[in-house]
Amino acid sequence: MSDISCSYHATIRRITLASAAASRPAGTVKLLAVSKKQSANKIRTLHNLGQTAFGESYLQEALTKQAELADLAIEWHFIGPIQSNKSAKIAAHFDWVQSVDSARLLQRLSAHRPSELAPLNILLQINIDNEIQKRGISAVDLIPLSALVAELPGLRLRGLMAIPDPGKPAHEQLHSLEKMAGLFRYLQAEFRNIDTLSLGMSTDLETAITTGSTMVRVGTALFGPRE
Ligand SMILES: *Cc1c(COP(=O)(O)O)cnc(C)c1O
Repeated sequence: MSDISCSYHATIRRITLASAAASRPAGTVKLLAVSKKQSANKIRTLHNLGQTAFGESYLQEALTKQAELADLAIEWHFIGPIQSNKSAKIAAHFDWVQSVDSARLLQRLSAHRPSELAPLNILLQINIDNEIQKRGISAVDLIPLSALVAELPGLRLRGLMAIPDPGKPAHEQLHSLEKMAGLFRYLQAEFRNIDTLSLGMSTDLETAITTGSTMVRVGTALFGPRE
């Protein structure tokens, strides 16, 4: 087996075991393969193994690889910081955007979503640890921004995303994950069709699944170190 094949099956096994340990039904946690700074060839290999959802953080790099992989049915997620002059291309070339953090960006993404495509799936990024350098909205803005998405025809709100501060001690990281799960339940109670809590990466996917993540974003554990 190739390295990628081994790491793919190992990652799926980690997700399956963590889901079972948390008494979550099989298939309720989706794997997003984070392919930023990884080659188109590696993406193709992983796709051939059955992986369909891929996440990218840098627009130009993503567009180049998308062109090389145009023959594959890939669900593309944008997960990186977004400069407003990039929003039109992101709206046209991705299926999901997970790093949405302002009303202005929501309006631009909706306005630029081509009408022949299905609405763009949106996750609002929460700055759960209130880190100054990190993007994301604070919890108080969650309901107003969600109400805005509901009014925008080019968008469909699916849930929340966060990148907890990796420098915190484990119990504080757990607390951040639990806060996210609480916000997710609150959003589900207020809006329809909210089904995605994007939490957990290569090193913390088990804890994220235990606290309620429905989508883990895994890069290095699948592909090895970034180029
Ligand atoms: C790079 C990245 C990941 C993947 O990180 P790994 O540690 O390589 O698994 C997940 N989420 C976001 C938002 C990222 O930028």
